Amino acid sequence: MREESLTFLEQLVNAPSPSGFEQPAQSVVRDYAAQFAGEVRTDVMGNVIASLNPAGKPRVMLAGHCDEIGFMVRYITDSGFIHFSPIGGVDAHLVPGQKVRIHTSRGHVLGVVGKKAIHLMEPEERKKVLQFHQQWIDIGAASRRDAERRVSIGDPITFATTFDRLHRDVVTARGFDDKMGSFVVLEALRLASRMKPKAALFAVSTVQEEIGLRGATTSAFAIEPDVAVAVDVTHGTDYPDADKKRFGDVKLGAGPVLHRGANMNPVVVDRLLAAAKKARVKHQMIGVPGRSGTDAWAMQLVREGCASCVVSVPVRYMHTPIEVLNLRDLDAAAKLLATFIADLGPRVDFIPT
Ligand SMILES: [Zn+2]
Repeated sequence: MREESLTFLEQLVNAPSPSGFEQPAQSVVRDYAAQFAGEVRTDVMGNVIASLNPAGKPRVMLAGHCDEIGFMVRYITDSGFIHFSPIGGVDAHLVPGQKVRIHTSRGHVLGVVGKKAIHLMEPEERKKVLQFHQQWIDIGAASRRDAERRVSIGDPITFATTFDRLHRDVVTARGFDDKMGSFVVLEALRLASRMKPKAALFAVSTVQEEIGLRGATTSAFAIEPDVAVAVDVTHGTDYPDADKKRFGDVKLGAGPVLHRGANMNPVVVDRLLAAAKKARVKHQMIGVPGRSGTDAWAMQLVREGCASCVVSVPVRYMHTPIEVLNLRDLDAAAKLLATFIADLGPRVDFIPT
């Protein structure tokens, strides 16, 4: 991966952005997009829309959501411990014993999610998962007043993990779901900007996907795309315990994943397959019989309907503090999308026949 691109990815995943609090990540996106886009604007929801050749045809929208799962401060006890709720789908199993960052108006506060020591537990307690309301964050405060001087009700919280390299192109971070999607759509725009596309391109770093595809819904209404592709994570099933019979065979490093199913316009799928061949990008395929659970689900139903599709990147351990992916899959996804866009012209139609 190109060094400037890697720096962008690293800054993006390290920036906190739980749903509804995406501003730090969007500021990283704006700075990067300004180098290649004709225009970069932020709408009232907080979506960042980077455009290229806006008068072109067809109108193409790429969406990668920049929000990540996290938590929120709900209640502070008299002794200064913090109770919290999840933002998005977090596995309650994973949280005790983690370091977290509480993002306040005056910078971040480090905390730990405490847990009763194993010595003090009854044998039955050791087998149980603590629900979120039974967990707490310890910021070292002596009292509620002491805690309130540093954190406020409603402050967002993230796991404290940051970007790290495991081995060669295999890296780990929290929030690759789906900041790597924002990354790929911006990289596709950078590559497409050198290919003089006839299409209009709108690369959108969307918000609030994890709580209901909300940023994609409003930005697609404004953009009025003819064709829309969501870039999101999919489950790599190449680790012990993953069930290929139910979720398909998807490997890290084996290329971006194309999807087939009701959320995917068949003309777009065929054109993506042709683009993969032309760009010499190896790809994988999965079947999605119903909801894709991505921004494409919202974009497909904008106005009178839009030719939608999903291009995904395999990630292991989705929604944990240590998601893992292969950087080569990100480069390949951006190249595939840029080639797909460069081959579109005003006469291409997406009506399935
Ligand atoms: Zn997610």
